[in-house]
Amino acid sequence: MSAELLAFRDDTAGCTRCRLSEGRTQVVFGAGNPAADLMFVGEAPGFHEDKQGVPFVGQAGKLLETLLAGIGLTRPDVYIANVLMCRPPGNRDPLPDEIEACEGHLWKQIELIRPKVVATLGNFATKLLSGRPTGITRVHGQEQQVELGGNSVVLYPLYHPAAALYTPRMLEVLESDFRRIPELLGRSLVAERDPEPEAPALRPPQEVAVQLGLF
Ligand code: URA
Repeated sequence: MSAELLAFRDDTAGCTRCRLSEGRTQVVFGAGNPAADLMFVGEAPGFHEDKQGVPFVGQAGKLLETLLAGIGLTRPDVYIANVLMCRPPGNRDPLPDEIEACEGHLWKQIELIRPKVVATLGNFATKLLSGRPTGITRVHGQEQQVELGGNSVVLYPLYHPAAALYTPRMLEVLESDFRRIPELLGRSLVAERDPEPEAPALRPPQEVAVQLGLF
């Protein structure tokens, strides 16, 4: 982890910005490669994440690892974070004021990691990072170039692996959306290497007319 990311993790370890600090075992900071091109953002720690202090170590995490393996990646290749860093009691949905209290921590991680592609897992991450209320069923698999944490990134909404675990049709869709990740990573890297040639400046019609000897 970069020194700045480590320092930030230490800063957040005692966070009391919302009520979730009262019931947590520990703050679950993002984990993985601090120089990752691909970052995942899930919802919130569950039972196992709260105990181990690492995101996506339960059943949903196993599925995420399998999906990653399917595109030739492993956990150490990517960075994984959540909308909330503390476990909501009984794994209930995050509340709006908890998201608001925690979102600064996520923005800061995005700023420090500077990923090329941010894949949001499920509704909460997708709505927060897209800034739009449209649900995951309508936007999954549709990438969008946006600015996050001061950088241009490809935002790529995906179904949450926990939802796909028990719904075979959703799993198929998640697998198929996942298969486009290498292309998205390649696309943004290519875009960085070979910026589009600038279009020639359009000249006002009068100037063109003068040059053509029409005036
Ligand atoms: N689900 C999430 O959204 N995040 C985790 O860390 C684990 C399960």
